Amino acid sequence: MAAAERITFADFRERFQTEEQCRAYLFRQRFPNGFVCPACGAKEYYPIYRRSLCQCKKCRKQTSVAQETGIHRTHLSPVLWFWAIYLFRNAGNQV
Ligand SMILES: [Zn+2]
Repeated sequence: MAAAERITFADFRERFQTEEQCRAYLFRQRFPNGFVCPACGAKEYYPIYRRSLCQCKKCRKQTSVAQETGIHRTHLSPVLWFWAIYLFRNAGNQV
């Protein structure tokens, strides 16, 4: 997982007010150079389920944008999860 950016709590509240903002951020964390299929390396995909899943146009493998975080396994709002992750990472950084 990429290192958390150093942003203040106020910045965080500004930047992640909606699920869409959270998903866009997760997408950039997971695919910093744009989507790359983990199975075949193709770069084109179809966004599925409001962009929390990416389906490869070539091999049709579906990749969850939030896979590494465990968000996809819960029924919590991604926004709530994001706050939890942010707080968790920040606590870790301060040790
Ligand atoms: Zn593929």
